[in-house]
Amino acid sequence: MECTILGAGVSGLSCAIELLKSKIDVKILSKGRSPNTVSDIAAAVWYPFLVEPVVKTDKWSVETYYELIKLMNDFPESGISMRKGREYLRDKREPPGWSEDIKHFRILEIGEIPDEYIFGWEFEVPVIEMQKYMPWLESRVFSLGGTIEEMSFDRIDDVEENMIINCTGLGAREICNDLELVPVRGQVLYLDQDPIIGHFDQQKETLAYTIPRSDVTVLGGTAQMDDYTEIPREEDSEEILRKCELMWPDLDREKIIGIGVGLRPSRNELRLEYEHVNDKHIIHNYGHGGAGVTLSWGCATEVMRLIRMHMPS
Ligand SMILES: Cc1cc2nc3c(=O)[nH]c(=O)nc-3n(C[C@H](O)[C@H](O)[C@H](O)COP(=O)(O)OP(=O)(O)OC[C@H]3O[C@@H](n4cnc5c(N)ncnc54)[C@H](O)[C@@H]3O)c2cc1C
Repeated sequence: MECTILGAGVSGLSCAIELLKSKIDVKILSKGRSPNTVSDIAAAVWYPFLVEPVVKTDKWSVETYYELIKLMNDFPESGISMRKGREYLRDKREPPGWSEDIKHFRILEIGEIPDEYIFGWEFEVPVIEMQKYMPWLESRVFSLGGTIEEMSFDRIDDVEENMIINCTGLGAREICNDLELVPVRGQVLYLDQDPIIGHFDQQKETLAYTIPRSDVTVLGGTAQMDDYTEIPREEDSEEILRKCELMWPDLDREKIIGIGVGLRPSRNELRLEYEHVNDKHIIHNYGHGGAGVTLSWGCATEVMRLIRMHMPS
């Protein structure tokens, strides 16, 4: 059996590896490749953010959590490490559904919460350096026998092959005419200073995070719906710094060394389903919002399950 995967972001590459490991031949066709995908901009911390439906995404996230830990141990060069982070809240609420499934999660003591906030929790999760992880994923595809070819499609019907896994991220808006899929713009700053522990305000309206990696600390963020501007904005940088300083007063603005912008592929619910149309067997896997890395392996496993269920062998 051979499958054609459209897209070489984290979703397409993870699916490719999952299929190749199941002895399915894989050819990836993609308009762009690392380092020019949205996945390359991801911060990237394991955290289910801006993605629905929670009943499914919690399960796929937890599967990915354990796969990332396994990869960290088996392939240290993949750029994955475990980091502690603290999420702060302005009201008291129930812990997220995934809290019981990860290795370390606890409610914060009052003295551990910055002044602006009243509640919060600490977790330990994988942090993924995408500038190492994306090339590593590509090399894993090649070593398992897969190929990647640069090719762009206007419509999914233009793809000649008839067994297709559609991992085109925001590109699916055009090729599938899926107008439910919209960009949620994210701007980040890179800082040469380590906060030791990550700080998070994950509410969409007040979004702020400081994610320590071995190379830089990523400061975010913005979540601007239906905004296609890929050029950084000065006012967004200022707002990111203001929000991050509330959680991390020691942040040193002199140590900013870079800036990035990406358009998250956002949908009311991510699309992961089989479709049989015009003699083509298609599995759609797009619309992962702010959690494409967090969901990558769980979704790849689900793609594999749908292949076994629907695709002719
Ligand atoms: C600032 C920012 C921070 C983020 N932080 C995190 C984080 O901490 N954790 C996390 O889990 N997620 C994070 N995300 C979200 C994450 O980056 C996305 O959910 C993820 O990258 C989506 O991956 P994807 O492979 O589906 O799409 P993409 O990475 O966009 O890949 C799509 C692929 O399809 C190809 N393609 C598109 N159109 C066509 C076409 N017409 N024909 C052929 N090929 C096509 C593209 O070239 C590309 O290769 C962040 C995003 C941003 C912007």
